[in-house]
Amino acid sequence: MSYPQQQLTAEQVKSQLQTNGDFLQLTRSHEFSMPACSFEVVCTSSMAKSTVSVLDTGIIVFEPLGHSASKNIVLSSAVHGNETAPIEICSELIKQLILGELHLEHRTLFLFGNPASININQRFVEENLNRLFSSEEFSSKDLSSKEFSSKEFSGGHSLDQGQGAGLINKERHRALLLEKTVQAFFLQGSGERFHYDLHTAIRGSKNDKFAVYPYRHNKPWVKEQLQFMLACGVNTILFSNSPTTTFSYFSANNFDAHAFTVELGKVKAFGENDMTNFAEVTSSLTALISGLPLTLGDYNKEDFSFFEIDQIINRQHENFTLHFADDVENFTDFAIGTIIAIDGEQEIKTRKQGEAIIFPNANVAIGQRALLTVIPVEINPE
Ligand SMILES: [Zn+2]
Repeated sequence: MSYPQQQLTAEQVKSQLQTNGDFLQLTRSHEFSMPACSFEVVCTSSMAKSTVSVLDTGIIVFEPLGHSASKNIVLSSAVHGNETAPIEICSELIKQLILGELHLEHRTLFLFGNPASININQRFVEENLNRLFSSEEFSSKDLSSKEFSSKEFSGGHSLDQGQGAGLINKERHRALLLEKTVQAFFLQGSGERFHYDLHTAIRGSKNDKFAVYPYRHNKPWVKEQLQFMLACGVNTILFSNSPTTTFSYFSANNFDAHAFTVELGKVKAFGENDMTNFAEVTSSLTALISGLPLTLGDYNKEDFSFFEIDQIINRQHENFTLHFADDVENFTDFAIGTIIAIDGEQEIKTRKQGEAIIFPNANVAIGQRALLTVIPVEINPE
């Protein structure tokens, strides 16, 4: 059954939000667009004022009034629509901010990435949004014009990735809109930039929560960010060693944001998440937004498991099969020489000590990534 759609005016959006703070419901009832509006909120505990600006469906910005913010924080969820736990976490934070129940210290942009896919409870509608962001320099482009042609962009949203080139579907338009929104948000603020793109994984994981640290072009990995992940209950970090078309790499690469793709456990339906599993990430994000001290403790590498990508296995043939059970968890390792997938005639095997599988998905389009393998790695963050 499809989610009932509405066409509210800006005034109606505003009054509904001021009544119940439920931006997720409004987003779901406006899959593709929502009129912009803004209003002021006073926090009932700190009496601090802030501006709330709805920019479009799934896109809402909170900015403190009367004090300057030193941090600019992007929290995205629903880049994959069926990954409900992060959507519920963000929806609750948004609600508390709108209703004046939570003090806002820093500029914060919330993004529900793909509202139409939330409504069908699927990862995506036509194309995986998290393969559609620009992996090349983007920040120098002038995006102030409302009119843009896909020819100007080198982003995943405009390249032929086996589906055809250009802005050929709504997810590609959405990826470009999200890029423009993040660009404007970061360029309008001053101070440090952060982007946590929140997900849950398709399958369970030996390491329940983990994060992908986007490629930093040989800049050092940041110890304080690893500590923040630990405070969020994330002790397993996968260090990316090349540019990617993910949202977190986009922000890291173009705006020097501290960015991660954060995987918070296994996909479940709305209402089925045990929110106590997410207490640490919720309290850490709350503290970040509201400027409360984060108790990060001293850096200790024994607290973490670190991995880097070894093999990237793209599906090349129609007959592609994974050579392990559906319930094998992410980060499960296999002995050297184990067949992990069969692609056409080719057997794909593990090659290194401790090599483990991650993000397996045999149902991807031909040419797309079906599986990664990772190996343990030592790093020296600064
Ligand atoms: Zn995801």
